[in-house]
Amino acid sequence: MSTQRPDLTLRLVRRLIGWFAPGREVQAMSDLTHLRGPLRLVAVFAVTVVLPGLVLAWLSFRSVRGEELAVVEEAKGRAERAADAMLEQTAAIFEEFEATVQRRLASGRSPLDALPELSPFLRVAFRLDDSGELAAPFEPPRERLPVSSDVTLTGAWLGAQRTELIDGDPARAAELYARIGAEARGVQVEALASFAQARALQRAGRAPEALAIYRDVLARGADVRDPNGFRLGDLARLKLAEAALPNDTAVAVSSLRALVEELLTRRWTLGVASEAPLIARALDLLDPHAPRDWLATSRGRLEDRSRMMFYGEQLYPELAVVTAGSTGLRVAGASVHYEVTHRTLWATLWYSDDHYAFALDRMEISKKLTEVADLTSRADPSITVLLTGPEERRDEGALALRSLAPWLPGWSILILPSDSGDIRRSQARQRNERLVLISAALTLIAAGAILSGRMVARELEIAREKADFAANVSHELRSPITQIRVKGEALQLGLIDDEEEAREHYDAIVREAERLTRLVNNVLDFAAIERGAKSYTLRPGDLGEAVRAAVETARYSAETRKLEMQLDLPDSLPVVRFDPEAIAQVMQNLISNAAKYGDKGGWIGVSAWAVPDGVEVRVSDRGIGIPAKDVPRVFDRFYRSGDSETRRRKGTGIGLTIVKYIMEAHGGAVRVASVPGEGTTFTIHFPTGPSATSPKERQHGQTSVR
Ligand code: ADP
Repeated sequence: MSTQRPDLTLRLVRRLIGWFAPGREVQAMSDLTHLRGPLRLVAVFAVTVVLPGLVLAWLSFRSVRGEELAVVEEAKGRAERAADAMLEQTAAIFEEFEATVQRRLASGRSPLDALPELSPFLRVAFRLDDSGELAAPFEPPRERLPVSSDVTLTGAWLGAQRTELIDGDPARAAELYARIGAEARGVQVEALASFAQARALQRAGRAPEALAIYRDVLARGADVRDPNGFRLGDLARLKLAEAALPNDTAVAVSSLRALVEELLTRRWTLGVASEAPLIARALDLLDPHAPRDWLATSRGRLEDRSRMMFYGEQLYPELAVVTAGSTGLRVAGASVHYEVTHRTLWATLWYSDDHYAFALDRMEISKKLTEVADLTSRADPSITVLLTGPEERRDEGALALRSLAPWLPGWSILILPSDSGDIRRSQARQRNERLVLISAALTLIAAGAILSGRMVARELEIAREKADFAANVSHELRSPITQIRVKGEALQLGLIDDEEEAREHYDAIVREAERLTRLVNNVLDFAAIERGAKSYTLRPGDLGEAVRAAVETARYSAETRKLEMQLDLPDSLPVVRFDPEAIAQVMQNLISNAAKYGDKGGWIGVSAWAVPDGVEVRVSDRGIGIPAKDVPRVFDRFYRSGDSETRRRKGTGIGLTIVKYIMEAHGGAVRVASVPGEGTTFTIHFPTGPSATSPKERQHGQTSVR
């Protein structure tokens, strides 16, 4: 024979329980033995579901923060890309400009003309010489012409002017001018007076004289300028060509074209607007005679130069400051240096000994970049692209920042989230989704754990009940057997002389044998019911009779226990169908319970009566009653109330289970009403009418049910 040693875990657990709850080892160990199966399940559940679930939940919790950062990173990534794209476009503007300038310089072509080819933002360009003097395309502004202004302010000159213009006597005026010229000292005044004389003569209709004087002025005083800055030579050439145009057209045209070319290529003087009106006049005269494209090109050049002149005059004052700032950068092949003034972005560079300064329209560049920024913003609505100047830096909360140096020193591309709450909202949404999912998963795990716990508890209870049942049955068996044996032996050995006493002994033997039978029947029936092997044969019969028989059988034993049995039966009861043996067992179980738990009350009441849909039988006692919490469970198998009063009485917990089963097999029911300490009433209900019997049963009168 081999004894099975409890395994290591169990021994370990026993020791642990011994430490923590001394005295409870046995109960705990027996529970543990019963629970081995379920506990294993729980362990597997814990290891395969709960633990990984918790680990996953924990990981997810941690990853929430990571995801929040990822949202920001993602937005930043997009912003960085947009910023780079914008920077690239900005760089392109300047790189192209620089490259074109360098190409021109390398090829020997001046970077001072055809400015739109260099950059659409270029307004004017200057070249300064070694000493910082303006060398091209203009001459620096000069002082007013003292001689010409002086002479034109003299009384004689003003008188001649009045005679010519107000008095309307140009011939007389011509004489006055001629006198001024004759009296003049110096070629300037003389030339001015001669020119005025010629003009007056022309006005007086004496053209040949006038033209001769013009020719003279052209030969001797061409470089003299009138008070408005016009070169007398240019004016004279225009007058002569204009006069020759009707008769000597070819010569006049070529002369005018030569004049235009010369005026266009000549360095104009800043602040003196003399060349442009002369060119415009010459072009007007040439209009019917010169080739169209030459006219168009010339007009374009005039326009360019006039515009350059306009900007040149405005920006010249800045030039000295700007070029001074970049004088130190004179290195061979040095790159372009940029500087921002109020409205202008100056680009300066040295090329050998020449210092170039290009004035780019900063407002137009900003406008262009703002357009690009707007387009970029529109392409990605989650971001806003801003162009910020030196005074308006606000880079807190910026997703990306790019300096526009060296092109626009102090300026930046700033990328902000369009809606600063947007990122926070999307973070919150992601977080909430995560948390909901994690909570749901945790809730499910918790529910699973609770359910498993309940199931294990239930298993434990059933295991306990089964164990109790086995113990109860052996206990229940032992006592009648002992009684029978003791009483039988006493009789057998002739120890009982007294007839009365002998009678009691016989009675006891019969009573205990009956109890034994009842117990064995119950156990066997219960086993059959559990197996599903129990069947009943229902026959129409007199239920009153069956009840009476059961009461009478029980009466003797009840009376020996000083219990009054009261039977109330009507004269007749409707016929119901039942299995007499089974119903006898039902009555026996109910009456023996009433006797067992109702002994204090000393009374058992049994009654039967007809109800509209059947017959009801009631077994009442005035005993200990059933605690309310136990009432719903008294029909459960093996269930015995935990109440100490109940526990003091022997029982197996299957009697009422059998009653319930039998009643259900009869199509009826059993119910209980109990007041603890006052008594209990069980009522069984038998149905009558068609529902109780099938047509086939009516025909044969009996049926078997399970
Ligand atoms: P037992 O063998 O324990 O009597 P039963 O199935 O007959 O088993 O009864 C189940 C439980 O119902 C009992 O343990 C007891 O707690 C309760 N019970 C049954 N009948 C009565 C009654 N007449 N009075 C009080 N309690 C009762």
